[in-house]
Amino acid sequence: MTICIRGGLVVTMDAEHRVFAEGAVVLEDDRIAYVGPADGAPAAGIDRTIDAKGKIVLPGLINSHVHLSQHLGRGIGDDVSLLTWLHERIWPYESSMTYEDSYVSSLLCGIELVRTGVTCFAEAGGQHVAAMAEAMEELGLRGILARSIMDEGEGPASMIEPTDQCIARQQDLIDRFHGSAEGRLRVWPACRTIFNCSDALYLQTKELADRAGVGIHAHVAEIPDEVEFSRQTRGDTTVAHLESLGVLAENFLSVHTVWLTEAELDILATRGVPVSHNPAAAMRVLGFADIPGMLERGVLVALGTDGAPSNNRMNLISEMYLAGLIHKGRKLDPQVVPAEAVLAMVTRDAAKALLWEDEIGSLDVGTRADITIVNPRTAGMLPLHDPVANLVYAMDTTNISTVIVDGRILLEDDTVQTVDEEAVLAEAQARAAELVQRAGIRLPDRFRSL
Ligand SMILES: [Zn+2]
Repeated sequence: MTICIRGGLVVTMDAEHRVFAEGAVVLEDDRIAYVGPADGAPAAGIDRTIDAKGKIVLPGLINSHVHLSQHLGRGIGDDVSLLTWLHERIWPYESSMTYEDSYVSSLLCGIELVRTGVTCFAEAGGQHVAAMAEAMEELGLRGILARSIMDEGEGPASMIEPTDQCIARQQDLIDRFHGSAEGRLRVWPACRTIFNCSDALYLQTKELADRAGVGIHAHVAEIPDEVEFSRQTRGDTTVAHLESLGVLAENFLSVHTVWLTEAELDILATRGVPVSHNPAAAMRVLGFADIPGMLERGVLVALGTDGAPSNNRMNLISEMYLAGLIHKGRKLDPQVVPAEAVLAMVTRDAAKALLWEDEIGSLDVGTRADITIVNPRTAGMLPLHDPVANLVYAMDTTNISTVIVDGRILLEDDTVQTVDEEAVLAEAQARAAELVQRAGIRLPDRFRSL
């Protein structure tokens, strides 16, 4: 199948930052065969032409931190502290999940990702990786799956395992799912947090990741309590301790990374550690990550949404807006974290952070045919003086017109093409209610408390 996307403003996000005002992108099966001016595009052998006149053609957006399996928990963790969120809401929820729950949760989450222009995600780690893989294979998204591991600390007994068993399970998941779904799915090991991971687990995870040629997905320095815990139990703050263990490197995706000293910011830069910044989750409960300080030091920053119970919107477009906004307000400097940097955080830089830049993140001949087409023709996004600024500061999900992964159309005409969205919505509501009841999660009666 050869598709020609013709006539749009093509923003390549490639190394030369090329933009074509009236451009074309030709997709031959799962690869990009042409990027350039529309009048230079090959005309022969095209099976289908998508008229992109007046639209913006982007590399598919990349969400660097999601929790597919937490999606049925949207609304169970609002307005509480992080430790209440974790101990009384999320752990009971996650430890009560079945394979089927995880499958439906992943589909629901995946549909929201597709509708927000996302073609690739990095999962932080649920319990049923096979269920996530099944859902993603069906839906057609690209992504990195993970199972987050815990070998010590407080937590549900079913989720804490001996160190060796944690590592053996990770190896097994890599053997089974890394490179599956025609190469769309990869597997990384994930370490939950320093509250639940021993030094031995970090070290063995590092060894496994290096051996398998994959990355590590880890929540790092999320709240002051965590940094204090690290100081008490390890004698140093989280990032400094991970540095002393020798696990920080380009394949260590450090998520949130909010509570850092200046010296720790320098460590990230020196080690080439990529950071996944999740502004909405940060504003809810974590605090301001020093993204301007990271960018100044050349730290690679990608954007993520986190999970539905810690953000509620798995909407990378909202995250772009927030990332472009909150640091300006905090620093009282409108020049920090500019729009072009934010757009890179969901395309080129995100691909690098996920160690996948040879195939995704920019529109280059030979790379994967992952495309997001934006229709700016709404009252919320026009007029278009500076398209990059509008993508970051004005775009909404209603502007996402077409989403393509590996040359396969996942979203078109406001309809998800690969799964029955209505059926997933109905199933998700029923399962979510059952799951929360089974987990014994008690939510406050807000009306009574008013
Ligand atoms: Zn997370």
